[in-house]
Amino acid sequence: MRNEARLELQKDLARHLRAGHPWVFKKALARPAKGLPAGTIVDVVEGDRFVARGYLDPHSAIVVRILTRDEGEAVDAAFWRRRVARAIALRRELVTGTDAYRLVHGESDGLPGVVVDRYDRFAVLKLYSAGLTPHRADIVEAVRAECGDLAGVYGRDEVPRDDDDEGSEGAGRVLWGAEPPEHVTIDEHGMKLLVDVRRGQKTGLFLDQRENRHLVRTLARGRPEALNLFSYTGGFSLSAALGGSSHVVSCDLDKDALALARRNFSENGLDPADHAFAAGDAFDLLANYKRQGRRFDLVICDPPAFAKSQKAVEGALAGYASLNRAALQVLAPGGLLVTCSCSARVTAEQFTEAVKEAAFKLHVELALVAETRQPYDHPVSLQFREGRYLKALVLRRG
Ligand code: SAH
Repeated sequence: MRNEARLELQKDLARHLRAGHPWVFKKALARPAKGLPAGTIVDVVEGDRFVARGYLDPHSAIVVRILTRDEGEAVDAAFWRRRVARAIALRRELVTGTDAYRLVHGESDGLPGVVVDRYDRFAVLKLYSAGLTPHRADIVEAVRAECGDLAGVYGRDEVPRDDDDEGSEGAGRVLWGAEPPEHVTIDEHGMKLLVDVRRGQKTGLFLDQRENRHLVRTLARGRPEALNLFSYTGGFSLSAALGGSSHVVSCDLDKDALALARRNFSENGLDPADHAFAAGDAFDLLANYKRQGRRFDLVICDPPAFAKSQKAVEGALAGYASLNRAALQVLAPGGLLVTCSCSARVTAEQFTEAVKEAAFKLHVELALVAETRQPYDHPVSLQFREGRYLKALVLRRG
């Protein structure tokens, strides 16, 4: 099979594609892709040799995202269905204890730029490239048919701008079936969480932290005072409270998220009045607590990604060092720090170094008692190291 649309690579730039990496950068093309609309299925070639086939996004720095390296494989409705089926099979085998999990994790599931999260009977689809828009209907149909028991599929595309690789939020709409309720109630290891799939951050919840939230429930035993920085809707806060912390402070800039955090406490039979919800900047709160000499037995720190580009890595490492330093200043001796980084460009080693530096400067002894990565429903393609983004460290202050 031969595709009409062919894009030629510059000499010697095919190697990483042959090795399985799914991105073709604009600068790797011998000539720019002219006159082809976003979403065109193109063959990337080296001279006359087929290298891989993918979809075109002419306005992105990643001009083609690879879908197959098999020249005989057509990209049609059956293609999307096969890939979605493969992704869902992995979840069916491995994900337990929750009715909310990631069904499709983009590049790592062979579906670059496609994210699908499932919240009870609703799926939320997020497309991260304009090149996927023409294929949206096929993807929705594949998700609907392969799940078999959904009430609806809701779409929240995110089409990135060149100056912001996190992308800009698009408006959401129903793509199939029923309109989701104001809040979908999910059950995560016995903990109820209300999720606003229409207006919440990302697709509504940070599902990648599910197992870490579960871990915090066991870590909170015998630790009365807990502080959850960057709490969003209070998943970690609730885990701490259910696990044994009698007073949990949740801090986030997002007031709506904190309002939902309060409701999440009530949903689980906990009185929000016994806890505190601080709308504001986590760095300011830490500075105030330091001045007051306030100490916590458990501190959870899960900030948004600091390094959004390779150039920003150094700044991000300094940011992690200073944030963790401030967090350690409010951690009681014998207390636990659960600290996370979701910056794909910061490695686990670099992140650990940043925390080490923070502890060293404060003359604080820290023992690393656990280290985790992302859960099963956020797999990593070994050819795509950018997919290995989440790191969490559990440290005990001596
Ligand atoms: N731990 C959460 C997810 C955190 S996402 C969970 O398990 O659900 C990061 C959060 O940080 C977002 O909710 C965002 O609103 C918040 N945020 C970003 N900058 C902040 C700041 N300077 N101070 C406090 N919160 C901030």
